[in-house]
Amino acid sequence: MDRRSLVLVTVDCLRRDRVGFRGYSQPLTPFVESLAKESIVFSDAIVAGAPTYFSFPAIMASRYPLGLGREVLGIAPGEATIATTLQEAGYETAAFIAANPYLSARFGYDQGFRQFSDFLDSRLSDATVNWVPPAWAAWTRLNRRLERATRRTKITAAVYDELYFRYCQWRSSRGDCSMDQLRRYPAADIVVNAACAWLNELSGRPFFLWIHLMDPHHPYYPPQEALQSLGISHITPRRARFLNSFWNREDVSSRRLQRYRKEVMELYDAGIHWVDRQLSRLVDVLKVHQRWSETVFVVTADHGEEFLEHGNRYHSPSGLTEQLIRVPLLVRASDVSTFGIVQEPFSLLHLAPTLLESLGVDAPLSFRGLGMWKDISAGSSANRPAIVECLDACNNPMSVSDRMAPRLMAVRDGDYKLVLRFGASGEDLYNLKVDPEESLPLPANIAAKERVRLLQCARDHLQNSREHRDAGLALRARLREIRQRIDLKSSPLGASRDESAVEIGEHG
Ligand SMILES: [Zn+2]
Repeated sequence: MDRRSLVLVTVDCLRRDRVGFRGYSQPLTPFVESLAKESIVFSDAIVAGAPTYFSFPAIMASRYPLGLGREVLGIAPGEATIATTLQEAGYETAAFIAANPYLSARFGYDQGFRQFSDFLDSRLSDATVNWVPPAWAAWTRLNRRLERATRRTKITAAVYDELYFRYCQWRSSRGDCSMDQLRRYPAADIVVNAACAWLNELSGRPFFLWIHLMDPHHPYYPPQEALQSLGISHITPRRARFLNSFWNREDVSSRRLQRYRKEVMELYDAGIHWVDRQLSRLVDVLKVHQRWSETVFVVTADHGEEFLEHGNRYHSPSGLTEQLIRVPLLVRASDVSTFGIVQEPFSLLHLAPTLLESLGVDAPLSFRGLGMWKDISAGSSANRPAIVECLDACNNPMSVSDRMAPRLMAVRDGDYKLVLRFGASGEDLYNLKVDPEESLPLPANIAAKERVRLLQCARDHLQNSREHRDAGLALRARLREIRQRIDLKSSPLGASRDESAVEIGEHG
């Protein structure tokens, strides 16, 4: 066999500090840790945007998320990606995506994949099952009137919110439930099983397999087995439901949320542990089929997750904190001469061209990132600042007003980080060496040289984005979206499909 194969595993919401090779005290990822010993580990991998919809254009198409303008979501029709490139090079291609609507065919992520399984149909049928009967509809109307009345004062609003939360908890606690019933996404074992079935049928051709796992994504309902394995089986499904509901509340103070932070993080950790176990199984299957030695195996994430470190939960792009933008990245290949750790910042914009280079396949001209495989595998790497961009607090990119939000950008090198909010004047500069928690921006008169250097990077980036914008691709993407909106309106299932995207829009 001449050419090597590629397995790309992306894990939603996986923080850099949770993976074993980053030294996290809990043994969450023993398998990935063992893999790190024969891999190149990027200790400072930075996403090009967050959350999912602002991160994946760089991972798949080596393009900044706003590179085609704020109107474009996902991959544009006809846009070259790592998948289309490898398919054209004769690779078998398949993707198994754990029901993240933003990575569906609707947003162009199926391009280049001969088999594309997004597991979204099961979500649709769930939406139909969760239909509200007419008797409840009357209660809902009454409840809304009651809520409006209590909003007149702060105290009555707080009392209403508390009582309503407790009522919902009481109602949902009647009857048994399991973690499997509560989970919103297919767990890693289901997705990996589907990928293994595909591998079992594979011919001898080189292949590209992309697996996207959602286990660490909220609501956090890990398999019971993962909790047991970590020794935290005291969290029952009922408790997990309470924790998720409470953690999701907008009406309580950070102090009250802090009370449950440890348990919520335990649920999150168990999801990561489950992913690790399933990746071990996947590699076993590759070994059985004698494909392991020729496979480049990559594990990374689209963004991290926040647990109140800066007052936020989940992964809203309302600040490009280190918890959000730093992700694990490990590339395992059998013929690398120097295994080790790349300490310099590595933007995921460079991932697709670097992987193509490792396979000996030319990257498309449209890729904005650089192929760095030769340098990195020979033990040298350049120190280039990483750019991260998104729209400020755009939690639902299906909403026009969210998509009109001002740009939020970070320029990040090894020591310094500049955060630019285009909706407000000024910028925040952090010295990460002395302030890794980003607790206090530097005063404007400190580190002027670094500030100017990073501002210059930001300016160059904006200029390059303008110069390289492909108006034809942007137009095709806009047309796709308009057609889909028309189709959705005329389809009986359209509303629920649209809502499912909007629902996840808050999370991505
Ligand atoms: Zn995501």
